[in-house]
Amino acid sequence: MAEALGGTLVLGGGFAGGYVARLLGKRGATIVSPENFMLYTPMLPEAASGTLEPRHVVVPLRMMCPHAELLLGRATELDAERRRAQVETDDGVVSLDYQHVVVALGAISRTLPIPGLADHAIGFKTLADAIFLRNHVLRRLEAAVAAQSEGHRRRELTFLFVGAGYAGVEALAELSDLVRDALRYYPTLRDEPQQWVLVDAAPKILPEIPRSLGDYAARQLAGRGVDIRVSTTLESVEAHAAVLSDGDRIPTNTVVWTAGVRANPMNERFGLPLDERGRIKVQPTLQVEGLENVWALGDGARVPNLATPGAFDPPTSQHALRQARRLARNLAGERKPYRYRMLGQVATLGRYKGIAQVPGALLRGFPGWFVTRTYHLYQLPLLTRKLRVVADWTTALFFRRDIAELGTLGHPERLE
Ligand SMILES: Cc1cc2nc3c(=O)[nH]c(=O)nc-3n(C[C@H](O)[C@H](O)[C@H](O)COP(=O)(O)OP(=O)(O)OC[C@H]3O[C@@H](n4cnc5c(N)ncnc54)[C@H](O)[C@@H]3O)c2cc1C
Repeated sequence: MAEALGGTLVLGGGFAGGYVARLLGKRGATIVSPENFMLYTPMLPEAASGTLEPRHVVVPLRMMCPHAELLLGRATELDAERRRAQVETDDGVVSLDYQHVVVALGAISRTLPIPGLADHAIGFKTLADAIFLRNHVLRRLEAAVAAQSEGHRRRELTFLFVGAGYAGVEALAELSDLVRDALRYYPTLRDEPQQWVLVDAAPKILPEIPRSLGDYAARQLAGRGVDIRVSTTLESVEAHAAVLSDGDRIPTNTVVWTAGVRANPMNERFGLPLDERGRIKVQPTLQVEGLENVWALGDGARVPNLATPGAFDPPTSQHALRQARRLARNLAGERKPYRYRMLGQVATLGRYKGIAQVPGALLRGFPGWFVTRTYHLYQLPLLTRKLRVVADWTTALFFRRDIAELGTLGHPERLE
């Protein structure tokens, strides 16, 4: 049975969908999302290293969008002609009628047909990935203590990251800080060599930022002993090793895959017009091409930007947020084309180090780190969330890191 909705249906409660629903305010909306929170991904590396509490990098959708309804589930069908969507919930399939629908299903990790990748590598896209990675890394330290041979110990202390974009570089920098701090409590490992390897098919790391900042980031990481292999690809992964295109076989139990994303494959099922990369084609107003009441934005859409003629928006939260602002206004009746000129880019490189491109300046080191943190704090919705993050950062300044390995969390033992 179809539920009469009458208003705006937002499919996906991530950056793009969450902000559209928030900005619609009292006009109201119904959000369909598998989780009841929006993940603030730029802070995910800090959640992985334990600088931030994982709960503090997510924003509950019911708090973020107090005037919206939330239906927990996954959109599985979209009938644009009848203006009806189907959603799989815990209690079965629900049909929803709408006036306007906003498709904001984001992207998923783009994996390649590399032997062993799906079985042995770890992704870095969700909160669960970040929590898993932190516990996995701490577990490797415990395994290194128990290792019976030099070879095993080396393998446990080798960490390979594939993909030198923001996610890979920031995750590596944060996790290497975690290990460095944790080793204080592992006296038998203190003098053991660790190996951190960063692999990318491109000739430079962080290709999306100005060259001088990318080179600075590479120097910083190299100075910390990170082995950066550019113009190199991952050929195969085994349970205890990875093979690279330069012929090197690296014994390791940790391969983190952050080599890009692709549009959510659900877009195909919805029968919407897609480009060759599976992104929904939208007009400058963010309406889906050829469909009056269907809108799309975010990582899953190919969004033209009047400020960058001929180029489509890259998959970043900065762009998703600006698209959401335009889309919410257009839904309210304005119908203007989307235009956004990016003001800058920021990234952290672990404790007290960062890079920031701001109008008129390129900042490195502490100023870059400070600007990056300030920017993200400003962007994070809800004052209560901001205060929790500030409290975590302040705690991290004065206290040592927590090194409890909580891999069993969420997996209670079965009652016998
Ligand atoms: C580790 C990491 C770090 C990043 N750091 C930065 C950064 O520093 N700066 C920056 O600008 N960008 C960054 N990004 C990119 C940024 O996160 C994305 O550009 C942004 O999240 C895109 O928003 P979105 O709403 O399109 O997708 P998402 O935020 O991914 O949201 C999509 C939502 O759709 C939901 N969904 C999926 N399938 C369904 C379904 N069938 N039905 C209903 N809901 C569904 C998902 O659960 C999710 O909540 C980072 C990304 C990652 C992974």
